[in-house]
Amino acid sequence: MSRVYNFSAGPAVLPEEVLKEAAEEMLDYKGTGMSVMEMSHRSKAYDSIIKEAEADLRDLMKIPDNYKVLFLQGGASQQFAMIPMNLMKNGVADYIVTGQWAKKAYQEACMYGKANKIASSEDKTFSYIPDCSDLPISEDADYVYICQNNTIYGTKYNTLPNTKGKTLVADVSSCFLSEPIDVSKYGVIYGGVQKNVGPAGVVIVIIREDLITEDVLPGTPTMLRYKIHADNDSLYNTPPCYGIYICGKVFKWLKKLGGLEKMKEINEKKAKILYDFLDESKLFKGTVRKEDRSLMNVPFVTGNEELDAKFVKEATAAGFVNLKGHRTVGGMRASIYNAMPMEGVEKLVEFMKKFEEENA
Ligand SMILES: *Cc1c(COP(=O)(O)O)cnc(C)c1O
Repeated sequence: MSRVYNFSAGPAVLPEEVLKEAAEEMLDYKGTGMSVMEMSHRSKAYDSIIKEAEADLRDLMKIPDNYKVLFLQGGASQQFAMIPMNLMKNGVADYIVTGQWAKKAYQEACMYGKANKIASSEDKTFSYIPDCSDLPISEDADYVYICQNNTIYGTKYNTLPNTKGKTLVADVSSCFLSEPIDVSKYGVIYGGVQKNVGPAGVVIVIIREDLITEDVLPGTPTMLRYKIHADNDSLYNTPPCYGIYICGKVFKWLKKLGGLEKMKEINEKKAKILYDFLDESKLFKGTVRKEDRSLMNVPFVTGNEELDAKFVKEATAAGFVNLKGHRTVGGMRASIYNAMPMEGVEKLVEFMKKFEEENA
């Protein structure tokens, strides 16, 4: 067996310990004589799996009792529609556009009501987070929407926007469980789990109870109503059973590690190794304004497309895979999610130093 250092932006690296445990339980989950993939979502065994997953997530994120946790499908992209369909009571929402995902969410919301783009960083290829301390928040906005960590561009909000009392909705797909957050500051927090938590197919929505109502956009399909999923504890229909089971194992892995405070400490240390090198390198440069740098996604360039391609090719051959940057940014991107070991980043930097010497 040979595992690579996988810097994919998503689906992405998972903790090896979790994968091994899942492998051990593949044919016979705890004496049931079957795989979790083969069991009824209404069975006793599965009931414990989903309930424990929720309890562990609540514990990790210190989720207040007046928030529901939903395990849904359709990816983060389906939330782009579900949010306006369920939350636009006045038909108005404000969007801060800091990357492709926020832009897609904004464009989707435009189909269901009046979505206002109140700030954007598109003028500089989304390489920074705009000042959100005093934005023109709409009087009648039902919510203010952000993408908290911009997977493609490698920026993140270090300060949440001043929403002037309006409900904050955040896509946290690529920074989910990377550090503690104060859940009570948000109305909705959601993320596709395939970036930092588990296998593709699950999206987790953490939503304040007063936002879950019958009053949704006329014609909203049953499956796109938060209320139906909340009333049925995410078991209205068959949930993504196996994916939720793996997420549950990742939650336990995080708890064992010391929780989100500890994870943050590790993530900061890990990111610093790479950013410190980028700041001193004569060949490689980071593409993001320093104060807005993501802990999870680190884009960088040499400034020469041919050299970028050579680097990606040689890195791949050396076991550092999926470093090619997003097609809209070019260059490279190292996604260093929770499950990327410190050693992976240290070895990548060693490799980059060697490449720099050879190509000076
Ligand atoms: C990947 C990603 C998405 C899209 O996720 P899907 O599950 O593929 O729909 C949305 N937002 C962010 C921040 C992402 O990183």
